[in-house]
Amino acid sequence: MAALTRAAFMNLTSTHHAARLCLAVLFCLIWTLTFAAPVDNAVSAVPASQRSLDSASLPAASTALLPAPPQPAAARAADCRRGSVLGFVAHPDDDLLFMNPDQQTAIHQRQCVRVVYLTAADRGEGQPYLQARERGIMAAYAEMAEVANRWVTDGWRVGGRTLVRHTLRAAPGVQLIMLRIPDPWLGHGWGSLTPLSQLESVAGTDVQAYAPYQETYTRNSLVTLLAAIIQTENPTLVRLMDASIEIPYTKLCWRCPGHDHPDHIAGARLVQDAMRLVPGPYAHQAYLGYPSQERPPNLTDVQKARKTAIFLHYVANDTRDCAANIICSRPHGPEAVWVWRQYRIAPDSPGIPANPASPHLAVE
Ligand SMILES: [Zn+2]
Repeated sequence: MAALTRAAFMNLTSTHHAARLCLAVLFCLIWTLTFAAPVDNAVSAVPASQRSLDSASLPAASTALLPAPPQPAAARAADCRRGSVLGFVAHPDDDLLFMNPDQQTAIHQRQCVRVVYLTAADRGEGQPYLQARERGIMAAYAEMAEVANRWVTDGWRVGGRTLVRHTLRAAPGVQLIMLRIPDPWLGHGWGSLTPLSQLESVAGTDVQAYAPYQETYTRNSLVTLLAAIIQTENPTLVRLMDASIEIPYTKLCWRCPGHDHPDHIAGARLVQDAMRLVPGPYAHQAYLGYPSQERPPNLTDVQKARKTAIFLHYVANDTRDCAANIICSRPHGPEAVWVWRQYRIAPDSPGIPANPASPHLAVE
């Protein structure tokens, strides 16, 4: 009886042991799937060219863009032998409005195209709107690459910092890097400093990025980071906005001739300083921002149509640009003007460092 009881007890014990082992394995499996792998942002499995622009069909922002702990992206390695473009802009749509069709052309040529977005462009609304704009720019780049809108999101370690990085799964040469510096909406008439323009122009200022990597930057440390990004990415071409507007930030006004957004100017100046720290060899090209609206349209009908279609993939996700009471099938207001234009700035503009590798592109 005792032996029988002992055997039964041993059997019970081993059963409990096995159950505990199973539970541990199950927990590890769940943890690995949840936390250890980069987030695959399956925004849509449908090819971009076949997708509707109906924002209601896109997934919710709540968890889609929360990155995993820092580690290399799980996308396959990029082949950058045909060239590598590294763009710096303030907001997720500046590149679509002011650097296209050049960005599209580089992707079409199978060059690697990386873009660094300095601000969250959240207009003071924080994460939900920040994520909507990131979803928008991801959809636009998937459309440019003509692949499914599926991305791997991870934390990229560079220059001692961790940044949110989205890698296009089917075209890993396309990467979007987010600094997520807060960007409250400028008030009516503007005349105020944004965090980025304050950081650029007021000594002793610092700014903290939004989650998940709440990095704090001073002007010097941000320039150092941008230089580290240039050095690490080793581009053949750096694209940036126009740094030449000399109007003080607080005097800038909306759609006034010759005026631009303070973050466009501040971002361009910071990138210029970064390029001075790591001067090459790479070419660089600056682009006219808002003032392109004062120049005549300079794109062909085919370019205009394509640039507009790409931009509308962004718009479909921007809950302000594509609100319930707005028709989202065409750009509105100044965006309708900008999508018909792209103006490169001559490389000898004030402040841009001399670089013998730079192609001489006159203002078009
Ligand atoms: Zn902008």
